[in-house]
Amino acid sequence: MFDGNLAITCPRCGARVAGVEGCFALRAELSAREYSDPAYGAVNLLTTDAHALQHPEDHGIKNNAFHLVRLGWLLEHRADPRIGNNPRWLHTPFDGLPDLPTLTPPSFRGHFTAVDMLEADTPEQYRELAYTWGRSVWEAWSQHHDWARGFLKAILP
Ligand SMILES: [Zn+2]
Repeated sequence: MFDGNLAITCPRCGARVAGVEGCFALRAELSAREYSDPAYGAVNLLTTDAHALQHPEDHGIKNNAFHLVRLGWLLEHRADPRIGNNPRWLHTPFDGLPDLPTLTPPSFRGHFTAVDMLEADTPEQYRELAYTWGRSVWEAWSQHHDWARGFLKAILP
């Protein structure tokens, strides 16, 4: 029988951490690093979207749609993923109660997880790994690429 206390992996993304709680604690750790050093914060939006989309059960319909659209924007439009790059046009469509589809999450969410980010010893390595993570998660959500691209096209200034 499954015992949550003995969990050695995150049931959402498969990372080798102590369950979902351990995975969000690790995300908080990465976030603290990004907010304390701009060299690491340079890829904050990528790591935020990647982690969120690997844990869609914890975020809800609106958040999942937002993170998928933004991840597509970051990767396919080469947008700047640094902390604070939050253009108004990207957020406005998600204000209030927009009519959004329920994006069924993929069961497999990529081989790369938050744990792999710990391999980075320098901001350059961290940046490279953040793009690997982002691309891996974007690919995992490929069944919703058409929707995300169409949505982004409609709101891009
Ligand atoms: Zn996880």
